[in-house]
Amino acid sequence: MIEEYQIRVLPNIAGNESHLKKYLQKEKGVDMKQITHIRILKRSIDARQRQIFVNLTVRVYINEEPTDEVFEHVDYQEVSGKPSVVVVGAGPGGLFAALRLIELGLRPIVLERGKDVHERKKDLARIKSEQKVDTESNYCFGEGGAGAYSDGKLYTRSKKRGSVEKILRVFCQHGAPLSILSDAHPHIGTDKLPGVIEAMRNTILRSGGEVHFQTKMTELLIKEGKVIGVIAGGKEFFGPVILATGHSARDVYRYLSSAKIAMEAKGIAVGVRLEHPSRLIDQIQYHSKDGRGKWLPAAEYSFVTQVNGRGVYSFCMCPGGYVIPAATDSEQIVVNGMSPSSRGGKWSNSGMVVEIRPEDIPSDPIYINRYIDKSLSVMAFQESLEKTCWQEGNMKQTAPAQRMADFVNGKLSGSLPDSSYTPGLLSSPLHFWMPEIISSRLRESFKVFGNRSKGFLTNEACLIAVETRTSAPVRILRDNDTLQHVTISGLFPCGEGAGYAGGIVSAGVDGERCAEMVKKSL
Ligand SMILES: Cc1cc2nc3c(=O)[nH]c(=O)nc-3n(C[C@H](O)[C@H](O)[C@H](O)COP(=O)(O)OP(=O)(O)OC[C@H]3O[C@@H](n4cnc5c(N)ncnc54)[C@H](O)[C@@H]3O)c2cc1C
Repeated sequence: MIEEYQIRVLPNIAGNESHLKKYLQKEKGVDMKQITHIRILKRSIDARQRQIFVNLTVRVYINEEPTDEVFEHVDYQEVSGKPSVVVVGAGPGGLFAALRLIELGLRPIVLERGKDVHERKKDLARIKSEQKVDTESNYCFGEGGAGAYSDGKLYTRSKKRGSVEKILRVFCQHGAPLSILSDAHPHIGTDKLPGVIEAMRNTILRSGGEVHFQTKMTELLIKEGKVIGVIAGGKEFFGPVILATGHSARDVYRYLSSAKIAMEAKGIAVGVRLEHPSRLIDQIQYHSKDGRGKWLPAAEYSFVTQVNGRGVYSFCMCPGGYVIPAATDSEQIVVNGMSPSSRGGKWSNSGMVVEIRPEDIPSDPIYINRYIDKSLSVMAFQESLEKTCWQEGNMKQTAPAQRMADFVNGKLSGSLPDSSYTPGLLSSPLHFWMPEIISSRLRESFKVFGNRSKGFLTNEACLIAVETRTSAPVRILRDNDTLQHVTISGLFPCGEGAGYAGGIVSAGVDGERCAEMVKKSL
């Protein structure tokens, strides 16, 4: 017999199967000796009140073993000899596009400027040891894209539940933990992501697709107003093109601008990484001086407010994670965050960012004149801030930083707290040199967040500058129905870099949609 129950239990019951069996016997009258298996279908933590509860939907197998599949697998067919489609970029957008093309009987040729996901790791280590950023292999470029060395958070505001669940299932089919199918806030973790990405690549290769690393697309091949392929790594590759190059490929945006391929400037969010001791966040969020205890995960938070007509919010929170150097060039500092699957680190961080619209870009000639194409103005603002940050950070990857309460009080920090950011921190008056449109709003929002959560606004926390790569500063214009570029056929702008996704899952969903539209166009 199989029974399903929705239950609300204490964390120690949710976290231990024998406690859960006892609970089911006591509360639901199920003889625990007859329970052969319990499958968690949904799990969420309710930390709104002092007593923390875990909401579970469980499927209980009584006197029988589970025979049903945990999730539906996708069949990947052999596509050698089938029509080729060029996929530029092996981030989540490109990888999910490639896998979906295979499902649809098309042959993906994936071109990636960076290295494979394991080789890439060595270049990441060099950012700390040599203070050098490899422009082709870094936290944004390389197999797996910007999401490979991340927290691997997989929740999205996307309403397309079916599409989101499919992405999660494909991740599981390639080795991601099954908990991502049940957790309300699923995440994979940076230690597990590379293996999953490698397995996705192997599916592409096994099915007859191609994957080329260190093969940067430099040009589109255009014939009679139609994209027929690309030049990458000095070679020509033919087929319709899914362009999934991510939010950091500024050379791609510049090339598209020079080729007069229509784009527009897009709003982004800019700010800092805020790092607290994870102990403190656990104490605040779980309302207990004992913190998370044995059964709860590192606590998450989410803040949002409006200051002077613009949103200010926490972004991409990494509980028990690390702040990392995410620049794509040596003369810039960009910070972001990642966490291991255990989320067991000493710190918890999040981006604290202010919404910036194209009309907010200061009318300084540096932003307006630097690019004749106005669609690149927000990108120019991003670039200039990252360069300023590098100059403030001693022209290395050491990041300018300030204690949180000092920032709010306009005071240089005499010392800085320990941090997870391995290239090192340098005390700097962020309140002074960050653009006023950002610093004034951050200051006001921190007061609001501090009032909402006692202990959050503290000098134990540190602001690390600067977080700029929250989304693409440009939108490559495409038709809503065909997903092809508005003026050039055969080109399918895809994922975050094209301005149609924000996050791993939504980039994957967009990749799948682009693949479907390529199939339709053929
Ligand atoms: C450190 C970090 C942590 C993050 N954490 C999370 C998280 O926990 N959860 C979440 O949902 N999102 C997270 N994000 C955001 C997420 O990674 C992106 O939204 C997502 O990766 C976008 O997917 P994409 O495929 O559109 O682009 P990308 O992932 O950026 O992939 C683009 C790929 O194209 C390649 N490329 C660029 N130019 C060329 C060219 N000319 N030729 C060939 N290849 C090229 C790049 O090397 C890259 O591999 C994080 C981002 C970063 C940087």
